[in-house]
Amino acid sequence: MNTLNSVDMLGRLVAFPTVSRDSNLPLIDWVEDYLEGFGARCRRTWNAEGTKANLMAAIGPDAPGGVVLSGHTDVVPVDGQDWNTDPFELTERDGLLYGRGSSDMKGFSAAFLARLASLNAAAMAKPLYLALSYDEEVGCLGIDRMVDDALGHFARPEFAIIGEPTTMQIVRAHKSINVFRTVVTGKAAHSSQPQRGAGAILAAARIIEHLDALGRSRRAAASESGCEPPWTTVQVGTIQGGTAVNILPAQCEFLWEYRGLPGEDPESIIEAMQAFIEREVLPDLREFAPETSIETTPIARVPPLMPDPEAKAERWVRGLRGVRDGGSGEVSFATEAGSFQRAGISSVVCGPGSIDQAHQPNEFIDPAELKRCEAMIDDVFAYLYRSS
Ligand SMILES: [Zn+2]
Repeated sequence: MNTLNSVDMLGRLVAFPTVSRDSNLPLIDWVEDYLEGFGARCRRTWNAEGTKANLMAAIGPDAPGGVVLSGHTDVVPVDGQDWNTDPFELTERDGLLYGRGSSDMKGFSAAFLARLASLNAAAMAKPLYLALSYDEEVGCLGIDRMVDDALGHFARPEFAIIGEPTTMQIVRAHKSINVFRTVVTGKAAHSSQPQRGAGAILAAARIIEHLDALGRSRRAAASESGCEPPWTTVQVGTIQGGTAVNILPAQCEFLWEYRGLPGEDPESIIEAMQAFIEREVLPDLREFAPETSIETTPIARVPPLMPDPEAKAERWVRGLRGVRDGGSGEVSFATEAGSFQRAGISSVVCGPGSIDQAHQPNEFIDPAELKRCEAMIDDVFAYLYRSS
């Protein structure tokens, strides 16, 4: 059996340049091969083009309960960043390990893959699931496919730990991300004759102003949340439209998003915006041009990790070695945890490394973090050996 320690394993994983825009299949092939050496039952789910795959592996008895350890395989690009070392070659300097994905989040995956060598599969009373997704960094596009497929083929696990970098503190709730494209299709006309057309930009401006008002109302209702800032935020990121000042613009398009507090219904903003469009904007747009339209399509929806009133996973993970006390508890960055929670699996985020390193040039991880993570994983394995 090939046994690698966590640092060696991290070196292997970092060497696959799995930037989200590129295929992750070389990494998935290598990991699947490695996992099969431990008798894992592997399932792949694919993106539409067949260029990227999720990998879900089950080890141990085919029984309800057990634990999912979840990481994403993709990393953010290094373009335009000033790196002092090769980002895809794990490099030790002054006791720290540098490389793209070292913290976000190949460190966690490396720790669980390396510790598998110590797992006593014959002693397991509950199954272990290892989940590796694609396209997390571009909007958690892969995870739902993997979770749906797993629920159709494996019994439901009890707990999931998503190992995003939290310096081994427990995150029990985080915001949602909701990204949309809105296209206003008006009708071109000479600007001296607005009664013969419909200007798309003015209609878009009204919608955007309403989005701003929705954001301000959420800020006014800011609550006691560990998220920073402690309110739902609304942003418009890009806008395009129009051809000349004396032509009513036939089209205006804008990209916008909101990041909802963990406890807030993520549908509330989009529903309020749609109602405003139907009630206020569309009737005016269509006054002289009934064929005009306003279409909003989701680009990415990442569900929140909602606070679990029973705190099942939180209480369990708190008792594992390696996990740090305290911590923020609620954060503004989103993860794949909400997808597991939606599937009825009690979930927390807890992993090695710091989010401060994520997406930065010269991203690194402190190997002491990997040691803590190994201790947690060893305690996860011990839990799986117990039948109650
Ligand atoms: Zn991440």
